[in-house]
Formats: sequence, C-alpha cells, structure tokens
Amino acid sequence: MERGFLQTVEERESLLLAPYAMHSCDSAGRRRVETEHLYRGPFQRDRDRVLHSSAYRRLSGKMQVFTGDKGDYHRTRLTHTQEVASIARTIGRSLRLNEDLVEALALFHDIGHPPFGHAGEDALDECLKSVGGFSHNRYGLTIAEELETRHQPIQGLNLTYEVLEGQKSRVDKQAADRRPLLEAQVVDAADSITYDAHDTDDAIKLEMVTLEELRRELVMIQWCFEELGSRADSLEPDSLRRAIVHTLIDFQVNNVLMKSGKLVSQSGWQSSTQAREGAVIIEPLGELADAKQQLETFLYDRVYRHPELIATRDRAQAQIRSLYKALVEDPSKMPSRFIQRCETCGIERSVGDYIAGMTDRFFEKQHAIQCS
Ligand code: MG
Repeated sequence: MERGFLQTVEERESLLLAPYAMHSCDSAGRRRVETEHLYRGPFQRDRDRVLHSSAYRRLSGKMQVFTGDKGDYHRTRLTHTQEVASIARTIGRSLRLNEDLVEALALFHDIGHPPFGHAGEDALDECLKSVGGFSHNRYGLTIAEELETRHQPIQGLNLTYEVLEGQKSRVDKQAADRRPLLEAQVVDAADSITYDAHDTDDAIKLEMVTLEELRRELVMIQWCFEELGSRADSLEPDSLRRAIVHTLIDFQVNNVLMKSGKLVSQSGWQSSTQAREGAVIIEPLGELADAKQQLETFLYDRVYRHPELIATRDRAQAQIRSLYKALVEDPSKMPSRFIQRCETCGIERSVGDYIAGMTDRFFEKQHAIQCS
C-alpha cells in the first residue's frame, strides 16, 4: 500500500512538537528491528501494544487504594491509569512534547502492579527477599519484555528503547545517570497530581474523611474553596466535592505548566538530549509543592492508614504469603508457562511473577483453592 496522501509521522511531528520533545525520528528503535508502519509512529504503536496487552486489561481487577467490597465508585488501577494518561496528555500537549510517547508511558506506568496494590507489593517483596525482592516498576519491564506475547514464538512487546528507558527510570530514580526525557517527567508529575486528587475524592465519597475536615487542615483545599468563591455555598455536597476535586486537579496542572513550562520554554534546548542535562524540571514547584506534601501526609495518616484499610492490608498480605509458600512447595500447581519459567528464572521468581499478574479476584480464588 502506498502512503499516498497520508502525512508522515515526521511531517506531523515537525509541525507540532517543540525542538526539545522526543521526536520519533530520533528514537533509538527496538531490540528487534521492525519495518516502519505506514501511518502509525513508533510511540503510537507502543501505546497500542500496551493497550491491547492482557496485563493492561487486568488492571481493571486490581485495586488502587480501596478493594471491591467498598462498592464501585472509587478508582481501580485501570481508571487511575486512564486519569494519569489524560492529565499527562494535557500537560504534554501544552508543552509541545510527544503526546504519543506521553500516552504510551502513562498507560504502561502501573502495569506491573500486583493484586492488592502496595500491600501486595510489600508482601511479595518480603517473600522474594532472597532472590532480589519485588518491585512493581521492575515487574512492568518483565511483563513487557518476557511475559506478554504478541506473536508466537517471539517473547515480549518489543517496545521502543524510550518507553522501556522511561519505565527503568521509575525503578531507581537515584541510579539514573541523567534525568528522564521530558515526556517521562510529565507522566511522573501527572501520576502524583492524579492520585492526590482522586484519593481525596474517593476518601470523601466513602466517608472516611469530610470535606470540612480537609478544609480546616489543608492549605490546598482552602485554596480550592477560595477559587470557587461564593459558588461553593450554593452547591449540594456531591457537587461541591466534584467541584473541589476538579479545582484540585486544575491547580496542580496550572502550577506545572506555569512554573516548569516556563523553564522549559525559556531553556533554549534544541533537542531532547539537551533537555536531559541537569535536574528534573517538570514537577510541582514552590508553595504548591509544600501544600501537596501536606495533603499527602494527611492522606497517608487518615486514609491509607485507616483501620479498615490496615485490616484489608494485613489479610491480603497473609494470603499472599500463604499462596506463595504453597506454590513454591508445589510449582506444578501453576500454569505450564510458569512451570517452564522455573527453569530459566528459578522457582521463587516464577511463583512471584505468576502471583503478581493476578487480579484481586483471581488471587482470592486461587488462594481458596490452593490454601484450603
Ligand atoms: Mg500510578
């Protein structure tokens, strides 16, 4: 098929992107060389590969902060990911960065989360201590490079170097010898903006805290009320909660765009390589960074450490330890491909990888079958 009237990715990006954005034509490519697609750029293809992966779909059955027995209002790991992608694209587009790369990185960023969120991660890390521990960020790379299969017998999604490197920068932020691409920095900033806003929303809706308490104790919520002005007095509680959360997102996005965006636009960088010299630049700055810290400390103390969540955490961790033990003692209870993986990466790691891929519900089913 001839390209004909279709604009090339290079033509489109040269019109839309800033010089400091990651242009597709400068990509370091893929481990296994592939022919270029007729009308989809490399990062767009990465976005599609993540979106069509089974690990991505399973995010719908993985908890973010609250488990399924809390009803169906709150975020799952999948809806969190979608909100991150939306906010990251808003920031990326405004800064004239590569929106396809931003979206690929955003959809990919939490793909390695095990069942039961950070509680599950901590339990698996403890189980796997003798073989190097467990990190959801590192497991995301295992999914992309080993566990997902697009075309048999080729292993992995064969993502571009830039998407894999962006994820690697999340594994150990201190170890990186240069700062991540601006697109990866945008996703990191969007992740934090997103969970601060939606955890506040979910916590109020689930009646773990009240908006009045938040207003009394947190500068950021006071700013949101100031922004709404007299309109706040006329709103019903549900509408008021939504308006405050909306303003909470706006405040943070505006801050990143006004402060970090200004630094980026005045930088004079002529390439994405130049933009990587120095410190991380796209992040909350000034008084907003302090206000965010205050909100996050509040959420930690009052929501994440809420007695109900601690009880769920303890139960989930005990179940993960017992399923892990049962499968290490008898790996033949796993599906055949994980039994085979025991030969290449060891029984412990293969059991850990199998458990980490489970949704909360599938995990509970397996626990009931294997540990009763
Ligand atoms: Mg996240």
